Amino acid sequence: MPSKSLYIATYGCQMNVYDSGRLGSLMRQKGWAMAESQDQADFIFVNTCSIREKAARRVIGHLKRLRALKLKNPDLLLGVGGCVAEQEGRRLIEEVPWLNLVAGPARLGEIPEIMETLSADMPPVVLAGPSPEAHGRDGGPPLVPMAAAGQVGPSRVPDQKGPAPISSFLTIMSGCDNYCAYCVVPYLRGPEISRPREEILEEARDLVGRGGVELTLLGQNVNSYGRPGHRGGEDFVSLLEEVSRIPGLWRLRFTTSHPKDFPPSLVGLFGKLPNLCEHLHLPLQAGSDRILEAMGRRYSKTRYLELVACLRKSCPGLALSTDIIVGFPGETEEEFLETVAMLETVGFDSIFSFKYSDRPMTKANLLPGKIPEEEKARRLSFLQATQKAITMAKHQSMVGRTLEVLVFGLGRRPGQLSGRARDMSLVNFDGPAWLVGRLAMVDIIEAWPVSLIGRLAGTNGDGP
Ligand code: SF4
Repeated sequence: MPSKSLYIATYGCQMNVYDSGRLGSLMRQKGWAMAESQDQADFIFVNTCSIREKAARRVIGHLKRLRALKLKNPDLLLGVGGCVAEQEGRRLIEEVPWLNLVAGPARLGEIPEIMETLSADMPPVVLAGPSPEAHGRDGGPPLVPMAAAGQVGPSRVPDQKGPAPISSFLTIMSGCDNYCAYCVVPYLRGPEISRPREEILEEARDLVGRGGVELTLLGQNVNSYGRPGHRGGEDFVSLLEEVSRIPGLWRLRFTTSHPKDFPPSLVGLFGKLPNLCEHLHLPLQAGSDRILEAMGRRYSKTRYLELVACLRKSCPGLALSTDIIVGFPGETEEEFLETVAMLETVGFDSIFSFKYSDRPMTKANLLPGKIPEEEKARRLSFLQATQKAITMAKHQSMVGRTLEVLVFGLGRRPGQLSGRARDMSLVNFDGPAWLVGRLAMVDIIEAWPVSLIGRLAGTNGDGP
């Protein structure tokens, strides 16, 4: 029986969700159990993200609130990982002196061994920078096969034993070589590294073999998987084709894709591979060519629109989501309105939108023309109102259609189920609990701003 338990709270991106799953797996191999809540844990690990400044402050707030638990249980160990740990290192100990461990993303694999001896009365351990076991394109520790379901945090790491999650993220590459002017990821996650193809396929087969229905291939820029010079992989298109052929895999997705790295051969897979879902997240960031150039994105508005046109030609029903940053240094009102116009022109199904914030080490930090906070807030709220209307119109146009819904769990009301259609629409409908994890056919009867209401029409007879 394991004697000690671990609770992992995860903030931020899907890469962090994956890393938390990986740490959970390594710790279980050392005999640790996963605690149901923070108050039951012997070790709390907060896995952090610093892509947005607000997110980093939220994490610090979380760490400060954990002091009450430390006072109640002086033996409790508290660790912090992820990008905030890498960026702040020892400074975190100054800000949160009751911390016992700080470990950047590249040092995650060392935690289980350290935890064998670390105790609350010892000086804190700080692990930042690259792993001592070589971390680069020519070598590096293999990633432990692992999957994690879920999104932004804080969230608890699910127990990975037994059946696979209904839907899993599967990391195929890590790091980023793009150095967009506003982004800390290349500095904190390091250069791009592709996982060996066989390792990915083995993990995918294992997940599907244990009942997984949906896989999302994950990476900072999956399209550059297997680029010459990367360790491991070959090209992304052939990897995607091979994963799609795994018997029993009903749904396949990938994220995130950089628009500059989207070859025609990848476009052509939409509408061709039967289990590749009709949804793509394609970050735009801005609708002005001058701002795109200042951001270092290396595509123009015209190129982005051409890509969208090709994708929709290949797959007419393709749903698109995107990321937008408002208030990049020097962004004029006209340039902001060009971004707003792009929402209408493309007709995105949903957007993730943010106010620009200075991040340490980035080029944009040094740019003149910073936009005042209240102006960024005004632009963000205008942008979001515009998108809300577009999304609502899309939802209304879906009333009367029948969608295949993968049921993820119970809804908020008793008797209600909740799931996602192939295009990522969130669908709630009444149905029996045994449908969880299965594919249901649902008639859409009502449109809401962020979800659709449906009526169960049957199950997908061929599916799980
Ligand atoms: S592509 Fe740009 S925004 Fe995306 S992770 Fe890399 S540097 Fe950051």
